[in-house]
Amino acid sequence: MTTRHRPPLTPAQLADLQDLALAVRAHCVRMAGGGGCFLGASLSCADLVVYLYRHVLQVDPRQPDREDRDWFLLSKGHDVPALYGTLAELGFFPRERLAKHLSPDDCLYWHPNRGVPGVEYHSGSLGHLLAVGAGVALDLKLRGHDQKVYVLLGDGELNEGSVWEAVLVAAAHRLDNLIVVVDRNGFQANLRTEELVPLEPIADKFRAFGWYAAGVDGHDFNALHDVFSELGGSDGRPRAVIATTVRGRGLRNLEARADRWFCRLSDGEVAGFLAELRGGGAVDLDTPGLVVR
Ligand SMILES: [Mg+2]
Repeated sequence: MTTRHRPPLTPAQLADLQDLALAVRAHCVRMAGGGGCFLGASLSCADLVVYLYRHVLQVDPRQPDREDRDWFLLSKGHDVPALYGTLAELGFFPRERLAKHLSPDDCLYWHPNRGVPGVEYHSGSLGHLLAVGAGVALDLKLRGHDQKVYVLLGDGELNEGSVWEAVLVAAAHRLDNLIVVVDRNGFQANLRTEELVPLEPIADKFRAFGWYAAGVDGHDFNALHDVFSELGGSDGRPRAVIATTVRGRGLRNLEARADRWFCRLSDGEVAGFLAELRGGGAVDLDTPGLVVR
């Protein structure tokens, strides 16, 4: 894979990505108040979602359903706060709407819903959207369209047989317009993936199925830019990017904690996390009042 069609990130572009990712992380923390959310996993994929929407996806916030758009499918649907936050920051809907997360007056649910501008498909029952993405990619190819389909998978989803059925189908139909990004945060719910059902070597497994596969640090925007710059061309191979990430990235005491899967934060805890994101001290997660399961 040698196609390189993007110049390196400029310092201004890098700063923009960092600022956008910080804003999205803050939105995720706020959504962890009230009814709560899967905060740690939302933070592990936040940089990936931000990078894709800022530099890869051909989408128009003013016309989310325009026919010539690229598709983004969040298969790891329980991490939708990262997507909601990114869509709001990019203008798909007003930021103020995020305050209605889990409100009965809106459809900003725990899992993606097609009623939210920019959300392509419902998800949350894990292991299904790669099959949907393969179908969309096949349809685009059959109709002669050149858009691409991006599917963000959680690493825990790789334990689903439906994922590997879709991997087979994508290779059989030579869907080089299909790009999988695996959020390799090393956890499946409250367990480490390698202690539950070991997944490695993930990249080699995709290659064995006829895919192109590359690994990358999922929090390094320059590295992400390099990897995604290499994904052009039309050699018939679907693409997989295995992005190594840290669950809870950005909140020091939340990072890589097996026992911090779902978080429901008090107002004070939200304020503490937001202060940490702004450069303050790390929040002690073991103080009474933090609800986790
Ligand atoms: Mg995971």
